[in-house]
Amino acid sequence: MKVELENIIIEGFSRSTIETYFYIKDLHLSFDIGKCPFHLVSVPNIFLSHMHGDHCIGLYYYISHRNLAKMPLGKIYIPEGALEDLNNLIKSFSKLEHSNRTYELTPLKEDIEFEYNRVYNVRTFSTDHRIPSLGYTFFYKKSKLKEEFLGLSQKEIVKLKNEGIEITNKIKEPFITYLGDSTFKPLDNKDYDFIKKSKILIMECTFILPEHYEEATLRKHIHIQDIINRKDQFQNKYIILSHFSMRYESSFIHSYLNKILPKELKEKVIIFV
Ligand SMILES: [Zn+2]
Ligand SMILES: [Zn+2]
Repeated sequence: MKVELENIIIEGFSRSTIETYFYIKDLHLSFDIGKCPFHLVSVPNIFLSHMHGDHCIGLYYYISHRNLAKMPLGKIYIPEGALEDLNNLIKSFSKLEHSNRTYELTPLKEDIEFEYNRVYNVRTFSTDHRIPSLGYTFFYKKSKLKEEFLGLSQKEIVKLKNEGIEITNKIKEPFITYLGDSTFKPLDNKDYDFIKKSKILIMECTFILPEHYEEATLRKHIHIQDIINRKDQFQNKYIILSHFSMRYESSFIHSYLNKILPKELKEKVIIFV
């Protein structure tokens, strides 16, 4: 599926236990990599949320193809708890192939922020799943004219600038958040209010029928009822709901959600299936 929001195109696939990836060409990245469809090999930055196979099984293919094509090493960001086992897995696979793959993994802790490029910073946050997992928020950096200079003419502003006076404040706005697999815990965390303020929120919604609510809790996923219960809290412009269980047919997901979603959510929700 492909959607264009806020001048970026999000292309991907996301179904629980099958495959999940969100490729955003305009940001030069993919959130998770799924089975690594061939067009993801050329993506320079991969942000893995966690190591369940449907989100990351294509990583070795990504590494080996970039090696074969003599491409520069991809930047692969992973939750730090996965580092040792992932290294072992890549080494074992390389050994099976009688080859020597070069690659670089960047393990990340939760709650760190770093510069992604001139336009964006990335912040990690902890999510709540059955294995170590991370969410990612990209903050758009921009300069805003200081209050005391509002109302000045263009000429006066240029004059101040030429005098070397700092006329702007640097501000950051949460642009896009990728939650990966998680319960609602990070969204309820007051320190993580940027998640619900991100212009675009890509979140999972594995279960939708009332009889699957307990299973959602048990398997540490989100149920649509969790979202509906908090319908007034989302300040996002767009919410991409994804990672639906395979027990629901695509047409059923659309018709059922269109029936039960309240107006507040219907305006912003994109059913990614
Ligand atoms: Zn998953
Ligand atoms: Zn998972």
